[in-house]
Amino acid sequence: MSINSKSSQSVRRLENILIIGNGGRENSLAWAIQKNQLVKKVFLIPGNAGSERINKCERLKIDLNNKDELVEKLNFLKIDLIVIGPEIPLANGLADFLRNKDFKVFGPGKDGAKLEYSKSWAKEFMQDADIPTAKFWKVNSFEEAKNTIHASSMPLVVKADGLASGKGVFIPSSKDECIRAAESIFNGKFGNSGNVVVLEEKIKGPEVSVFALCDGNKYILLPTAQDHKRLNEKDKGPNTGGMGAYSPAKILTDEYFDRIIKEIIQPTIDELKKKNIDYRGVIYFGLMITKSGPKVIEYNCRFGDPECQTIMPLMDQNFVFLLEKCSMGNLTGNEKIDTPDMVSGCVVATSKGYPHEYKTGFPIKIGKVDPNNCQVFDSGTSLSKNGELLTDGGRVLSIVCQEKNFDKAFEKAYKNLKEINFDGIYFRNDIGHQVRKNFLKEY
Ligand code: AMP
Repeated sequence: MSINSKSSQSVRRLENILIIGNGGRENSLAWAIQKNQLVKKVFLIPGNAGSERINKCERLKIDLNNKDELVEKLNFLKIDLIVIGPEIPLANGLADFLRNKDFKVFGPGKDGAKLEYSKSWAKEFMQDADIPTAKFWKVNSFEEAKNTIHASSMPLVVKADGLASGKGVFIPSSKDECIRAAESIFNGKFGNSGNVVVLEEKIKGPEVSVFALCDGNKYILLPTAQDHKRLNEKDKGPNTGGMGAYSPAKILTDEYFDRIIKEIIQPTIDELKKKNIDYRGVIYFGLMITKSGPKVIEYNCRFGDPECQTIMPLMDQNFVFLLEKCSMGNLTGNEKIDTPDMVSGCVVATSKGYPHEYKTGFPIKIGKVDPNNCQVFDSGTSLSKNGELLTDGGRVLSIVCQEKNFDKAFEKAYKNLKEINFDGIYFRNDIGHQVRKNFLKEY
């Protein structure tokens, strides 16, 4: 089948959607996609124990590495659109492979995913396009790292170049610590991802996440978000995959937002085009609002988790059309998302011990969760032989609520969290403290 034969169909077919990935992010994407009446079925490979609680959703057991079986099955199921959630299959070129087999795919090819899978490449990309970011040095050996650290007059951040499941960034408080961090990376802490190290000027300011859906030429922006990476209240303790988030990021005034578009988003899209990268997917801009203006901390080539769970409930039923348009390269750039007049707050419930060692296999009890504007998305869960829901990861579930204001949204999220229990459940009580009245005085 040629690309033309699929894309020239006069009747829009968007019945069978496939989502690749197994996290809370993919479940929330499925939840938003199934809202559209044209969608009959949402398949997930592999999904998780919470996926089939979502309307129209079904998990598929297919090995993504068995390419022949994959293509055969997707053709058999008449998949109309594929959404790839995580960075690893994108970095491995799965989107390119599936596009070559004539599927419509939301997710960048290997060339676009490089924005995430090589931090040094992303820094050079920003340098080429004059996009504001922290100063950096790319080093290829421990010797070179040591010399750069000794010669530097500013505090530095140390980053493994490649993918490291969010663990490859060190924020040392002394030169000694900085050198030890670089040494551990070059000694193979992250395998090949640490063959190159990026040293960066340490910058300061609140962080915000901005998401652009791109079709290779145009883009549209989704609601902004702020997440909480640290394990403990008052944003202290070790870094995690994310303990909660809220949307929109109130800190971004219209004036600031215009600056971000002009100085960061548009130049990123232009530079991708200049480099002949046909980017069809989401670009996640991790930004820091410094005294001298907004700067890019990192790009991701996929939705952030738990920001995705936080913003998906704000999407209207046309969301899936936007993903489809991106996959086909026909966004107008003027599409509007009819977001409800509500904000969204998300709290992540984790296993005791996370992000270090933790036990799994504890039964999860979910009581009466408010069905209105409140969602529970599973991240690390599994089903026992008798169908009992069990913990199966560090971040277990996210509870997301939408309300008129953040105080109400989080009040609702925490009330519903009381309905959820498992041995060793841990969550922060101060998610969204920046936008909740009770905390404004205290923090
Ligand atoms: P990354 O994986 O690059 O997003 O980094 C993880 C976290 O480390 C970010 O969310 C920031 O809080 C922090 N970080 C990364 N780069 C810098 C930097 N140059 N200066 C200060 N903090 C940083």
